[in-house]
Amino acid sequence: MGYRFDIHIHTREYSPCSLLYPDEMVESALASNLHGIVITEHHYQWEEAEIKQFKEKVNCNGLMIFSGAEITTDAGDLIVLGMPREVISKWKQFVPIEKVLEDIEKYSGFCIAAHPTRSYHHFDNRLEILSIPAIEVSSVNMNVYEQERAIDWARKLGRIQVCASDAHQVHQVGKYWLDFECPINTESDLIKALKSGKFKMGSR
Ligand SMILES: [Zn+2]
Ligand SMILES: [Zn+2]
Repeated sequence: MGYRFDIHIHTREYSPCSLLYPDEMVESALASNLHGIVITEHHYQWEEAEIKQFKEKVNCNGLMIFSGAEITTDAGDLIVLGMPREVISKWKQFVPIEKVLEDIEKYSGFCIAAHPTRSYHHFDNRLEILSIPAIEVSSVNMNVYEQERAIDWARKLGRIQVCASDAHQVHQVGKYWLDFECPINTESDLIKALKSGKFKMGSR
């Protein structure tokens, strides 16, 4: 087993659609043998100080906690990592995807098309022509048919395939994970490893 991460999780702290308390998220992640998680609230990225404060309050037992965000663009939902918070707060709901990708390139961030084949909030065909390196092919919020279609789409386009829980409830945390062979100790390690595509997908 390498370094296991669940990189798409919502808490009720900043995602109104989520029922998950942050301390439950940690418990569940540890019980799922994860090494780390990425909190991806809708249009909000946890501050570093906020994570530090949280870690002082809750025993995380070495669990790495990073933060990204899920952005609703005019083309579909995008998981975004490695971006400054100021930039993320400028993107409003249905921001033009071209603008988001331009910013991501500028800051060497990373992005993943979230649940692109879902019946609602799916991705439009711009996914085929835009520089979106990765596609989420499995999560608790995609049914088997949607997962199969996402895998086919990613294969056809030659994009990196990613799975993650997209947890909004405690039992969903760590349902899907990525397993990295190279050591992940920082957020930039994680982003580098994601960009390389060198990881395995896992689920329970
Ligand atoms: Zn949500
Ligand atoms: Zn989500």
